[in-house]
Amino acid sequence: MEILKNYIDGAWMPSKATETRDVVNPATQEILVRVPYGGGTGADVDLAVQSASKAYREWSKVPVIKRTQVLYKLKALMEEQSETLAEIITRESGKTYGESIGEIQRAIENIEVACGTPMLMAGDIIEDIATGIDEMMIRQPLGVAACITPFNFPGMIVFWFLPYAIATGNAFIVKPSEKVPLTMMKIFELIDQLDIPKGLVSLVHGGKESVDAILEHPTIKAISFVGSTPIARYIYSKGTANGKRVQAQGGAKNPVVVLPDADLEMSAKIIADSVYGCAGQRCLAASTIITVGDQQGQIKEAIYETVKTRTTGYGLDKDINMGPVITPESKTRIQGLIQQGLDEGANLLLDGRNASIPGYEKGNFLTPTILENVALDKELIRTEIFGPVMSLVAMKNIDEALQFVNGGNYGNMACLFTSSGASARRFRNEADAGNIGINIGVAAPMAQFPFSGWKDSFFGDLHGQGKHAIEFFTQTKVVIERWPNIWSRKF
Ligand code: NAD
Repeated sequence: MEILKNYIDGAWMPSKATETRDVVNPATQEILVRVPYGGGTGADVDLAVQSASKAYREWSKVPVIKRTQVLYKLKALMEEQSETLAEIITRESGKTYGESIGEIQRAIENIEVACGTPMLMAGDIIEDIATGIDEMMIRQPLGVAACITPFNFPGMIVFWFLPYAIATGNAFIVKPSEKVPLTMMKIFELIDQLDIPKGLVSLVHGGKESVDAILEHPTIKAISFVGSTPIARYIYSKGTANGKRVQAQGGAKNPVVVLPDADLEMSAKIIADSVYGCAGQRCLAASTIITVGDQQGQIKEAIYETVKTRTTGYGLDKDINMGPVITPESKTRIQGLIQQGLDEGANLLLDGRNASIPGYEKGNFLTPTILENVALDKELIRTEIFGPVMSLVAMKNIDEALQFVNGGNYGNMACLFTSSGASARRFRNEADAGNIGINIGVAAPMAQFPFSGWKDSFFGDLHGQGKHAIEFFTQTKVVIERWPNIWSRKF
């Protein structure tokens, strides 16, 4: 079975790893390939950093308008290859082909925004800040930066960082999730066609050992992380203690509030798409649905009706709405959490624990599950499930709902469904979450905006995407100059 290579110093080379992990299709359990893991991957990181460091010195001197030209080429290559990329995403992560196409589109949009770097990284100048003295602020790259990414978006998440990092003049190292490394292998085949210095962009595989090497390497100046909260917290504390700039996005548990004046049919459909899209494995998946007032019966019915029509199966087959979860362990964990909800007093409205998909009996499939009356004072209501499970709870009014929304540890997203502008305005203002949806189920910031998690969903200051990314990958330098007029009269 093939063992994946790293892409270091502009070439494919075998890893020094002593172990490997299987990369498995979650719908079929077919072993697709093996990925380097464990001992030796730290040495791979060191090699990548040495080459990146040289490439950075050359690249940072290339004018920004030339640096962004390679992004136009990368966008064109990704567009040409989007169907192949989508197929790979589905094979290794399980999401549906349509979801994978959408993911690649979001990645490309980040390349497009980063093409605006010549404007976005412009500095400021004040002429005559004192008589005959000018002051300016310029932005310069940091050096070598790295990102560490999760399994659930094998193609998109790297692009919250990579295009901005290189457009602003940095070298960049990608460490993808060991569960889904194949999409990046294909993307690096495209990167290999770009006219950039050898080693400017590298791909290193592995797990904790390669991550720790990134955290400890003195030459790496900045780390972008996306994954679960415990690891995000670890990356942030260790990375910053080692003097690095860190942005670390963590997990989530996203509440959605439905007011009595919401359009029930539309809300039910959007909420179901949010909860069950990508089999619930999205950091912006709605998880707890809070119905306010006495309409719970109607909304429950509307949700139930739309959820019943959703199809589960292999994402490369036609007319499939939902694929499997990533691993058998993940499936077992989700089944256990559903049981925990029941033990804590919830009722099952729809039970997706024992799904069996004809032709894919070995796949990690669950079908949509709905729990109602989930206990507000127990564990499940605060635990990230990361699977196709909806928890329904009823509350008296919007005050109670807001108190619940703001009482959670996470702050990735909160949504409100209503036809009242005043309620929407209040929710937008008072909900403690960094991404807010009003009649929207997945409030995913487009590439022009920062991916704004709060609380335990984000550790750091500047987020990924857009202007935040430009700021994250640059350091400001302030220059004050005195050029007395009298000197110009010499000639
Ligand atoms: P994860 O934390 O297990 O892994 C993420 C990355 O960290 C991987 O590259 C992995 O190799 C590495 N890693 C894992 N354990 C490590 C350790 N002990 N030390 C050092 N590195 C380690 O996350 P996952 O299961 O791949 O992804 C799912 C999680 O990511 C969910 O919690 C989800 O909410 C979160 N997520 C958050 C966002 C966001 O924008 N906030 C986006 C996507 C996913």
